[in-house]
Amino acid sequence: MKPFDFMEEFDHEQIVYFYDKTTGLKGITAIHNTDLGPALGGTRLWNYETEEEALLDVIRLSRGMTYKAAVSGLNLGGGKTVLIGDPSKVKSEGYFRGLGRFVESLNGRYITAEDVNTSTGDMGYVAMETNHVVGLNGKSGNPSPITALGALYAIRASLKEKFGTSSLEGKTFSVQGAGQTGYYLIKYLLGENEEKDKAKKIYFTEINETYIERMKKEHPDVVFVKPEEIYSLDVDVFCPCALGGIINNDTIPQLKCSIVAGTANNTLKEEKHGDALKKKNILYAPDFVANSGGLINVYHELKGYNKEAAIADVKKIYDRLLEIFKISKDKDISVNIAAINFAEERIKQMKNIKPSYLNIKKN
Ligand code: NAD
Repeated sequence: MKPFDFMEEFDHEQIVYFYDKTTGLKGITAIHNTDLGPALGGTRLWNYETEEEALLDVIRLSRGMTYKAAVSGLNLGGGKTVLIGDPSKVKSEGYFRGLGRFVESLNGRYITAEDVNTSTGDMGYVAMETNHVVGLNGKSGNPSPITALGALYAIRASLKEKFGTSSLEGKTFSVQGAGQTGYYLIKYLLGENEEKDKAKKIYFTEINETYIERMKKEHPDVVFVKPEEIYSLDVDVFCPCALGGIINNDTIPQLKCSIVAGTANNTLKEEKHGDALKKKNILYAPDFVANSGGLINVYHELKGYNKEAAIADVKKIYDRLLEIFKISKDKDISVNIAAINFAEERIKQMKNIKPSYLNIKKN
């Protein structure tokens, strides 16, 4: 498919390609929708095999950001940048300052942040060239602990919906991925949270030896299982905190959990897998609601960062998710479709608000 085909299919406003010969900077920014505000989304650096693969990734991810911002009640649109290159080779000061100059050229229509293979440090170089960047050291910083906190509140809402209580006590969990967000989520599940309630049992899986050893050393009671064993564990909650697309035709028949809720993006391989979970009576906390804590946190940077205010907003994921579960039940639709409808309805409402007489006069 060509860029305009993708734009038509996914309803994008703008796609921009950019290139700098000196530094090898080569990227695509997709601005999906700016009805609610400037498009915000991180910059992902990946060694894509083909340009089309990079384009499809940025198209999907930017649309996901529109939904995430809209569902979270933020005045932001959705956008994303992908950089095509080998993360171990291309990174330099010039590379990221080049990115900053490009972001500046969009004049505030797009705001960037760190993502896979880019760091808050890299964003420091971007910030030398533009103010349209968030998630900086000394401001909101590393998003992972607060993303995991948001996922904890998504888990609490799911427990409330399924079992009538939001408490972790007596409940069992499996966590896929103990990198950044999975590591913090496990700590919260172990009782390092405001309520001080804790899981009865936690299993985890990882492929990175360093992270496996860290967990074994710091929390020996958290049981390691092989990656392929994680899906079939008989637990209350399965928490995907690693890859996308892991809820699919192969894994759904293996699941014995009552709830799927974690930090991973694009957890469902396809929308239809949300229906398949519903049929199996497994409650799904849609990924772009459950992992919105990081976005809510960086949004606060745009208003002047205040950690307490950011955390208070992240905790609202709990009520928002209960509302989405209710829509799903009332309309007898899957939770992921209910969440998309919820986001689209907010965009539609805000887009259609008529200007009042005084606003017109000011303009
Ligand atoms: P991370 O890279 O720190 O952690 C992911 C971990 O998963 C890694 O340690 C990796 O070794 C492990 N892993 C990969 N494949 C695996 C497999 N097959 N089995 C078991 N473990 C496997 O990443 P992260 O920042 O924790 O993000 C995790 C997910 O959450 C991603 O999908 C990311 O897009 C999403 N997310 C993260 C944030 C954030 O604030 N970091 C915000 C929103 C969404």
